[in-house]
Amino acid sequence: MIFAIKTLNHTLGLWTVDLGLWAQHPALWGSSFGLLVADPGQWTRSWAAVPYGFWSLCFFVLGCIVGSFLNVCIHRMPLGMSIVSPPSHCPHCKYSIPWYLNIPLLTWLVLRGRCKNCGAPISVRYFIVELLTGIAFLGCWLKFGNHLHPLSSIPVALAFAVLLAGLIAATFIDFEHFIIPDEITFGGIGVGLLASVLLPRLHDAPSHLSSLLQGLIGALAGAVVVYAILRLGKLLFGRHRLKLVPGTKIVFGEASLHLPGREIFYDDLFYRKSDAVVLRAQTLELIDRGYKDVTVRLSPAVLEIGDEKMSPDDVPCMECVCAEIVLPREAMGMGDVKFMSAIGAFIGWQGVIFSLMLSSMIGAAVGLILIILRRREFSSRMPYGPYIALAAVIWVFIGKKYWFALFQP
Ligand SMILES: [Zn+2]
Repeated sequence: MIFAIKTLNHTLGLWTVDLGLWAQHPALWGSSFGLLVADPGQWTRSWAAVPYGFWSLCFFVLGCIVGSFLNVCIHRMPLGMSIVSPPSHCPHCKYSIPWYLNIPLLTWLVLRGRCKNCGAPISVRYFIVELLTGIAFLGCWLKFGNHLHPLSSIPVALAFAVLLAGLIAATFIDFEHFIIPDEITFGGIGVGLLASVLLPRLHDAPSHLSSLLQGLIGALAGAVVVYAILRLGKLLFGRHRLKLVPGTKIVFGEASLHLPGREIFYDDLFYRKSDAVVLRAQTLELIDRGYKDVTVRLSPAVLEIGDEKMSPDDVPCMECVCAEIVLPREAMGMGDVKFMSAIGAFIGWQGVIFSLMLSSMIGAAVGLILIILRRREFSSRMPYGPYIALAAVIWVFIGKKYWFALFQP
């Protein structure tokens, strides 16, 4: 140990002497600078000497660190919490996690998925997100990096890595909460446009201006096309309108809605805050009062009976007699419009079209498999964002090449 410290001191000392010498002799500055100016290729050549594997390792490690940050975003963003403060802590016992226990991948493995302080289990999601982001970053380097020209290729690889990081965060949040936060979608549009103007290679464009234009068209195409699909879907399929035998009594219980011969849990009914059940009640009875011929609208946040508004938590039970009830059913939401727009800013309008076509196929296939495996009912929903994300990843790594080979020979 003492030997190691001595060696370190020695090395540091030498280095300081070196720097000191350099600082004291302005003539040396000139020659260093002169070398650079006289031979700018020197820079590139010295960077080119850095081996390919070193950059691969850097990208993987950086990805794991970013993944660790994404875990914080995935946990906190949907709850409206700050992603900077408080620092990482155990959600069970509030134990503040010191830096040496906050090392991506390793911590989870060493602690075997348990909090060091209270022993509460830590979701395997933390490990998966870190590993996935590490692999995503490494993949971007392998695909877009060139170790002979690191200074020009690293920014492009990083831009795609940022896109993939956003896709990963959005996917995990959408699966759990059925929303994609504005921080990711609007933030993604901003970063995508910025990357477009700075890095023409992102769109294989000849100039910064045309690259920005590609990004803008991509963002616009994403928003417009998905919004059109959303409106069209509403027009074609409407909401899920259930005709009932006139005079049917339905009951809104504590945790579920009782229809004749069927019980639907609120968890399966309301995915987003904007989802609502709407009906026209001939009679409606609460515990302490009754109504006649009123429109009722129930969403997770508010219960509206006629013009009255109340909190659903204050109404434990409600009985209605009605002839028709409208249940929420939408494949896509406004979150997907903004999400596709952000992706479009990175991958252009061709990528948008490709991602939408492929995501609908993946969605249909997954849905069918789940129905065959009897894991879900035909009418129940899945978030759509993850399919878009997966399709966009396929575009970045494979699809783009074939698309341009097919359509622009
Ligand atoms: Zn704990």
